[in-house]
Order: sequence, then structure tokens, then C-alpha cells
Amino acid sequence: MTYTIFGEQFTPKFSLPLGGELSPEDFITIDLSKKNPDLLNGTTDDVAGLHAYVFGKIEAANAKCAYGGYAEKRDLYQRSSHFADSEDFRSVHLGIDFWMPAGTDIVAPMPGRIHSFKNNDNPGDYGPTIILEHHIGNEKIHALYGHLSKVSLPGLMEGQLINRGQKIGTLGIPDENRDWPPHLHFQLIKDIGEYKGDYPGVCHKKDKKYYLENCPDPLVFFENSWSKKMVS
Ligand SMILES: [Zn+2]
Repeated sequence: MTYTIFGEQFTPKFSLPLGGELSPEDFITIDLSKKNPDLLNGTTDDVAGLHAYVFGKIEAANAKCAYGGYAEKRDLYQRSSHFADSEDFRSVHLGIDFWMPAGTDIVAPMPGRIHSFKNNDNPGDYGPTIILEHHIGNEKIHALYGHLSKVSLPGLMEGQLINRGQKIGTLGIPDENRDWPPHLHFQLIKDIGEYKGDYPGVCHKKDKKYYLENCPDPLVFFENSWSKKMVS
């Protein structure tokens, strides 16, 4: 399977960014878009409710991880003023989320360098965040890891080399990850501009074309051995 990225044929070769032993049966997809009727009754409007919903789905499926969310239009950002910085709230999700317990190891899916890191501490924001820089052919791509634990950041250095599979952090609890059930926000960014340790993870509908082009679907970069529900 190959894809054209930056005008070059590219065979997916990212491994999973999650540590531990995981098999394809451990993954389920989850829909957090406004199309999901389960989200309309108000029970998922706070952290505890959303946690119960997502981790209840995982438990019911006897799985370990729920994932999804690229280009999803979500209403759940209305609860945070961080997303209401313009005429309407931001709602289009630009990465993929992997919902797993706090403390889960996060590992680099391919060799790279630390581009930057920061604790984005606004309510509803990423909390501790690391951005890695990877090379694909002659091009650079950045991978943002959001909602990490605070202990993930001390000791990191910009430019530091990171091997494939190397642990870069762990998933944070809601107090650290700025009020979310534990999950990794994983987002690819072609042109990161002047951003350091941060980049919009959700955009306005009107800016969707630019951001989805600049932030390609991470699922097409992953080797397809880890989930039966991968892109085919
Ligand atoms: Zn996310």
C-alpha cells in the first residue's frame, strides 16, 4: 500500500505511538462527532461523563484502546472557552485520539528529533505536549503528542534524537491534561510555521481545507498490522 504525500510515493511505516503489548483485537473505533446520538443527552458533557462513555465502550468490547477522530466535527468543544476565540467555536478535530488509561507509555513511531515541547495549560487545551520532527524523503513532517503527564517534559531538549519505539512520555490525568479523560492526541503537521510546543488541534469549519491539507490523516502513515479496522 502506498500513498502520495508531498508528491512522493510513501509506504506507511509509522509504528504505533503506544507502549505495551497490543493486538488488533485490543482496538475499537469511537465516534465523538455531532452525528453520534449517544452524545446528545448531556451525559457526556463533563469529564466524568465522557470518561464513563469512552472507557465503558472499551470495556464492553473487551478492548484496551478506542481511537478515531480525524476531521471529525465535534460539539464537545463548546464546554471550553479556549475554543471560543472567534465568531464561532472551533469544532473540526485535526488529529487522531487514542483513548487509554493515564500512565500509558507513549513511544516514538519512527526515528526523529524533538522539535519542541510545552505545557499548554489553558482549560481544555493539550496540557503537556511534545512535538517530534521526522523525515520522509526530502521532506520534514511534525508529529504532535498532546495530553501527556507533567513528568513527561523535564529533561527533554530541543534537537534531541529519538529512536523508533523510544518512550517519550506517558498519558496524563485530567488535572494535568486540562480536563480530558486520558488520551493521546496525535497530529501530523507539514508546515508548522513558528509554532513551538503547540499547534491548533481543532479548527473552525471555514479553515478546514487549509488545516486538513497541512495536517494529513495519521491513519494512512501507520503500518496496518495493529488494527483490523485500519484504512484498507
Ligand atoms: Zn484530539
